[in-house]
Amino acid sequence: MDLGIRGKRALVTAASKGLGRGCAEALAEAGCDLVLNARGAEALEATAAALRAAHGVQVVTVAGDITTEAGRAAVLAHGPFDILVTNAGGPPPGLWSDWSRDDFIKAIDANMLTPIALMQACLPGMIERGWGRVVNITSQSVKSPIPQLGLSNAARAGLTGFVGGTARQVAPHGVTINNLLPGIHDTDRATALDGGVVKARGITMDAARAERMASIPARRYGTAAEFGAACAFLCSQHAGFIVGQNLLLDGGALNSTL
Ligand code: NAP
Repeated sequence: MDLGIRGKRALVTAASKGLGRGCAEALAEAGCDLVLNARGAEALEATAAALRAAHGVQVVTVAGDITTEAGRAAVLAHGPFDILVTNAGGPPPGLWSDWSRDDFIKAIDANMLTPIALMQACLPGMIERGWGRVVNITSQSVKSPIPQLGLSNAARAGLTGFVGGTARQVAPHGVTINNLLPGIHDTDRATALDGGVVKARGITMDAARAERMASIPARRYGTAAEFGAACAFLCSQHAGFIVGQNLLLDGGALNSTL
């Protein structure tokens, strides 16, 4: 399917690996020129080189921490953007009783205020030009809390509330905002979370993964490529009537009718 976004300019943050990279790849395949960000320059350059070679699109890299004002200013200097995909690393797991105010502020900064700041910077131009697409990578934890990821549950719920209202305010201008909610996907983040289970329960990595897969109707982890394909569709010309939605990609893990 032609997604109708060839030549559009897209910013994907936290995109050298994992789900962000999956989104960047799918947008590159659709013909978008990209600005990509991550903290580590080496992996970022490798990803950019791979996308240029595979898809012949322009890829600008901006190494830096997207959760800082300076990091955001550096990427935003490469705008304007027709498409914005927001992403950042997830907060660490832990116990509800142990988190300090600083832990909450850090999580809220990364997973709520950073995507909000990026939207506030990009939406005015999209509105002026009468077209725009925003996809925020959030988490299944928005619909179904993950007890040990209370920092994520809290921060992402705040972002989801902001998007719910804002998406309806910008939709009259041809601009859509939607959230993609990953369930478990085979990335470094999943390996780190499974590593925590291995440590806590004294089981092997294979056993931890097998247990998790058994709890998912699809009986496997998701891939960054299929996550990216969903993202690219939400960014496409065909998705203009999808507004303010929270699309769960979890292999059926959340047992609910709606
Ligand atoms: P990942 O494989 O660990 O990749 C994270 C990417 O983000 C890397 O490119 C990393 O590069 C970059 N990054 C991290 N922190 C950054 C920062 N502060 N500024 C700029 N770039 C940053 O993670 P993932 O699995 O793709 O997860 C992406 C998001 O989805 C996370 O918020 C995660 O919590 C959420 N999520 C993932 C899953 C899953 O199963 N994978 C499930 C639910 C939610 P550098 O380290 O070089 O910066």
